Amino acid sequence: EREQAVTEANEPAITRDGKTIDVLVNVGVVQDAVDARGADGSGLVRTEVLFGDRRTAPTVDEQVETFRAIAQALKNRPITIRTWDIGGDKPLPFLPQAKEANPFLGERGLRVFRRRPELLRDQLEAIRRVATETPVHVMFPMVTTADEVAWALDELGPRHGLEVGIMVEVPAAALRVATLAKDLDFVSIGTNDLTQYTTAADRTNTAVASLADGLDPAVLQLIDHVVRNAGVRVAVCGDLASNPQAAVLLAALGVTELSAVGPQVPLVKARLRQADLSQVDTAAVLNARDADQVRGLL
Ligand code: PEP
Ligand code: MG
Repeated sequence: EREQAVTEANEPAITRDGKTIDVLVNVGVVQDAVDARGADGSGLVRTEVLFGDRRTAPTVDEQVETFRAIAQALKNRPITIRTWDIGGDKPLPFLPQAKEANPFLGERGLRVFRRRPELLRDQLEAIRRVATETPVHVMFPMVTTADEVAWALDELGPRHGLEVGIMVEVPAAALRVATLAKDLDFVSIGTNDLTQYTTAADRTNTAVASLADGLDPAVLQLIDHVVRNAGVRVAVCGDLASNPQAAVLLAALGVTELSAVGPQVPLVKARLRQADLSQVDTAAVLNARDADQVRGLL
């Protein structure tokens, strides 16, 4: 089955009812882009992972070169570069942070740069430069308020060809997506964090792993709300998009772009090709008792 899926990986993922879903690859190291089979681009370049082994911050030139290498490996299909998403469980050696009692609820992602924007400014310069050579989307992580979006857009400056979005991974952002996305081109749902914050279950704590289930109907209701209210293209780049069954559900809810881990890309595409989205009973899924019942329905 995997062999068959890999053979057909470069064919587009068109469902039986004629919906085209873009299936992209998540990139943490350049090799992820090189190894990707059938990816329609990258829906998530995790820059804090890409440069996470450095003791000093990468220069603008180094960032440009690395982003260019990723784009070339993906045959210059669009790449979605996420700005530094540090804090929580992800420290960066060249941007030390104060110890916090609740790091996942502290200075994470975009929040970090309000007080010290220099590293973000360098990164945005690199992103603007690569965007003159190849299709680039930029997105900001861990956004909560419209004010943060306005600040990030101000830091970015003139957009030219660049598409701009935010990650939706905080319930407040999911609920208020219509307002937050007003000046954006897309939003991308980070189901890992959205699940963690919706269920109040630390994603790194195995003792509560069963609570942090991306198929919890509460998480799915938020995703449904985002699709209905965003007014812009909605992508999913969290781990839920790597699960072929869940991918069909996400597409049935109206998500048009899924970004998965490399080995899953051909499998997600193959599953979507077999699916008739109009036959998915989304109401039953959204009203299910719990994640297990959702799995049963899928
Ligand atoms: C997410 O939260 O779903 C996401 C894609 O971001 P990360 O896993 O890097 O926090
Ligand atoms: Mg996240």
